[in-house]
Amino acid sequence: MKFVAIARWTLSVAVAFSVGCSSLQQNIQALTVRTTGENTPLNRSAEQLRADTQAHLQAADEIRQRVVSVEGQRTIENTLTPANEMWLHLDSAYQETGLLANVHPDEEVRTAAEEGEQLAVQRMTELSLDRELYEAYQAVDVSGADPGTQFMVFKMLRDFRRSGVDKDDAARARIKTLNAELVELSQQFGRTIREDVREIELDSVAELAGLPADWIAAHAPDENGKIHINTDYPDYIPFITFSRNGPARKALYLEFKDRGYPDNMEVLSALIAKRYELARILGYDHWADYITADKMMGSAANAAEFIDKVSAVAGPPAQRDYAVLLERKRRVAPAATKVADWEKTYYAEAVKSEQYQFDSKTVRPYFEFSRVQQGLFDLTSQMFGIEYRQVTGLNLWHQDVTAWDVYEGDQRLGRFYLDLHPRPNKYKHAACFGYRAGIEGRQLPQSVLVCNFPNPRESDGPALMVHDQVETFFHEFGHLLHAIFAGHRPWVSNSGINTEWDFVEAPSQMLEEWVWNVETLQVFAKHYETNEPIPAEMVQRMRGASDFGKGLDTAHQMFYAAISLNIYNLDPAALDTTATLMEMQDKYSPFDYVEGTHFQCNFGHLDGYSAIYYTYMWSKVIAKDLFSKFEENGLLDAETSMHYRRSILDPGGSKKAAELIRNFLGRDYTFDAFETWLSKG
Ligand SMILES: [Zn+2]
Repeated sequence: MKFVAIARWTLSVAVAFSVGCSSLQQNIQALTVRTTGENTPLNRSAEQLRADTQAHLQAADEIRQRVVSVEGQRTIENTLTPANEMWLHLDSAYQETGLLANVHPDEEVRTAAEEGEQLAVQRMTELSLDRELYEAYQAVDVSGADPGTQFMVFKMLRDFRRSGVDKDDAARARIKTLNAELVELSQQFGRTIREDVREIELDSVAELAGLPADWIAAHAPDENGKIHINTDYPDYIPFITFSRNGPARKALYLEFKDRGYPDNMEVLSALIAKRYELARILGYDHWADYITADKMMGSAANAAEFIDKVSAVAGPPAQRDYAVLLERKRRVAPAATKVADWEKTYYAEAVKSEQYQFDSKTVRPYFEFSRVQQGLFDLTSQMFGIEYRQVTGLNLWHQDVTAWDVYEGDQRLGRFYLDLHPRPNKYKHAACFGYRAGIEGRQLPQSVLVCNFPNPRESDGPALMVHDQVETFFHEFGHLLHAIFAGHRPWVSNSGINTEWDFVEAPSQMLEEWVWNVETLQVFAKHYETNEPIPAEMVQRMRGASDFGKGLDTAHQMFYAAISLNIYNLDPAALDTTATLMEMQDKYSPFDYVEGTHFQCNFGHLDGYSAIYYTYMWSKVIAKDLFSKFEENGLLDAETSMHYRRSILDPGGSKKAAELIRNFLGRDYTFDAFETWLSKG
């Protein structure tokens, strides 16, 4: 699963800003000379970072004071413009610390960064409940302003209200308490999942049949002859996928699906109850309505309709996939009438390797790291009419990090940094971090890709990537380009990837398509020894193997989305989460609920995403629809990609996502492309 680390400017972690007024710019720059300059070294000491964070926060406080003290008529120039600068300082403090906390090699710097990040979030939370600031925004007449400015003010006022700024003192006090309690419950829920590692014991190596040799070697029996298999991914995933030992797979599955039980039952109930209370105070029927209100989805009812619609589309392909799995199972269990949840991964893997003869190791020689990076640069510069120029001589946080400027002709559009290889104490996943919001006439956007791909500097042989990593690289680069192209708006809340949460993964998911297409792959996927492009038939097999099971996967994803929605779309007084889980599994998943399991206690998204797990599938539906234009015109058609850039990426958050999509497709989004993709196979 991929995700993007985003400073999402909404309410408690909140908001945005601008500039653009030249008369004020002088004042502003006097306050910000050192800390927001483009050439401020990204690398710095803990002491320097603390000083920089303090300077940002102090500047923000001073501007806030100035904004609320304005006398007489409020205008864009005396209110919105300086307020934008205030948010810009907080954004910079948040982004700098958020990045360095995750990548800096020095523990002292990481600690200072974490502290700074907390201070920035705390300040933003306070401002989101700042009545004087809210009233200042409200008092500005923007009826004659440009649409982008009007949309910014609409979003700001909405986010203030979503924070509860307009409620009375007692309600606001309760909101603060609830938010603080929710942070703790959320940490507790996650910690219990992380720390509850369970295991099964096996009696002999013979019971590990089917697993890779290096995995077996790493699981030697203990002094009592017992082999221990635990519920962490490096054990669980290979075991559930490859082990030929059905009862052992089931035993491990039961442990895996029961992590967090019973401790998290109460924690989850408290999370749900407090969110419900918060939503009621804020004027919504329940949490699911609150959390969907500022998304493309708009309401819990729309989310429910979406889940049912996708489930209906996924029905026939899921049944087809299920029949294939059952048939495969009958070769070893002729009387079987069902495939159990703990068997699906094992039989799907068997079908993939038998029917598609695809082994992911065979494509690695075509994905040498440096060639992949060059290929990604070549393809995207051709598509979007840009050029990447390496910048040297900067003080960066590690020798493996590179810096690049993006040019369109002579015009510089922004800068990005690539921190792509693993090292101790670095962020373990793949994400696009913001570093500087781009503000028209003020500062260029800067973003950072943080990934963990093989390092050519450290490997003995070629640094070969698996295809999944290549896909991740393209995905994250999709976020990065979005941030760079959209980093030319006047207001922070409209800049970069500040679009609706359920749209933000669409551009990145769409760019993944370029690593599944023979024509685009052959641009760069060349064998590191022979320089031969990847054979078309190999790509076909890779696609076939990847496509198998997509009906079942989609159906199962809708089961997850349905649990997520249905524990948050009601008054939880009488809610029994296990009963809801069983009901949703019965309704949406082709696989039966397994008695005695409590998946809700270890489904971390029930906290992090709360009611909106649907967003993954929603972005996919949109991405498939956007991609349909490229399928029609060609993945390398310059006109289509420039049209895409102008209508979807460049505007950032200055318009509603639905409008951006309409501008690109020339119509409203539909399910058609997704449905076609899902049913062919
Ligand atoms: Zn992403």
